[in-house]
Amino acid sequence: MTKQVLSGPEKPLQASFYDLSYADLQTVLAQNQLNPSAAPLLFRWHYKNKQNTPCTVDIARSTQAFLAEHFDFSLPEIDSVYLSDKDQTVKFLFRLKDNLKVETVLIPFNNKYSICLSSQVGCAMNCAFCFTGEQGLKRNLSTSEIVGQFLQAWRWLAANRPGEERVLNIVFMGQGEPLHNFDAVKKACEIFLSQYGTSVGAQKITISTAGYIPGLQRWSEEIPGVNLALSLHSPFSAKRDQLIPINKKYPLTEVLAYIEQIPLRKKQFITYEYILLNDFNDSAEDARTLGELLAGKRAYINLIPFNPYPGSQFQQPPMAKVEQFKAVLDGFEIPTLIRGVKGDDVLAACGQLNSKRQ
Ligand code: SAH
Repeated sequence: MTKQVLSGPEKPLQASFYDLSYADLQTVLAQNQLNPSAAPLLFRWHYKNKQNTPCTVDIARSTQAFLAEHFDFSLPEIDSVYLSDKDQTVKFLFRLKDNLKVETVLIPFNNKYSICLSSQVGCAMNCAFCFTGEQGLKRNLSTSEIVGQFLQAWRWLAANRPGEERVLNIVFMGQGEPLHNFDAVKKACEIFLSQYGTSVGAQKITISTAGYIPGLQRWSEEIPGVNLALSLHSPFSAKRDQLIPINKKYPLTEVLAYIEQIPLRKKQFITYEYILLNDFNDSAEDARTLGELLAGKRAYINLIPFNPYPGSQFQQPPMAKVEQFKAVLDGFEIPTLIRGVKGDDVLAACGQLNSKRQ
């Protein structure tokens, strides 16, 4: 046997601190005979106070030394920031350690912000109307890269719009299919939910999916209370096949039947997203069939007028058609919201995220 001599950095490769859930952190401290009281202090420092340097307050020297040796506290670097001229929307382009880039959007909402997080670099879903899909899947994001988007966006607000650093809702509607990267997304949710950290309520977090049933199963069992949005886009299976290729493997009827038997919490609704594509899925018949499909369910509908991007094959319908579509759904007494087109001037609206084109 030959002995391998490894060369390379003197320090072992450091893990990111932001990959640890609260329970993971407790385990790390216990396994290394360090004082467990550091766990709430560290979570408060990094997640409540959003500090990105090692914590020195009230932490034993031995714990500080251990953490400094084994963990990295840096966050994804902000490569560029795009500000909308029309509203308060902010789009961030982050540079990751391997130089890949990913986008995050802050969307103004009642004096606060919703944050739209990416879960993957690119996406494997290849939906016909989505700019992100065009770039294909590069890789999954780690928990620290997901949580890092939130922390950096918050820190940017604190520095640039002081007093406005209020992020109320977290939606996984950026690049990627969150249910294809369930482990990392779940741990990110656990960190957001932690009472020692950002303490965001489960009802303020939404995971949006194109309808990946194995992921839906894990969502309902492992992070109950976190909201679900299903990208529906057509009640007709042939049309949905054309828009969302995964419909061939997991057809809408099966996805809806699966969702139907999940016990929801009090006041919990499923959001159904419906992108309106001019002369493709925006007729009265489309609306009626959608209404029949969802009537009587615990459903909200989000109508999203298509956001065009360079080279897109669809058009946005005129507003009058969007209103007519909503009127049909109102007839079925399904709460329906027409989603405003925020940030479209900086390609920050739904489906316009494509970090390769920057
Ligand atoms: N993969 C997940 C989450 C990312 S997309 C999903 O499919 O749900 C977030 C939402 O934006 C989805 O409802 C998606 O269908 C919608 N969307 C994608 N491209 C769009 C576009 N060009 N215009 C408007 N909405 C779009």
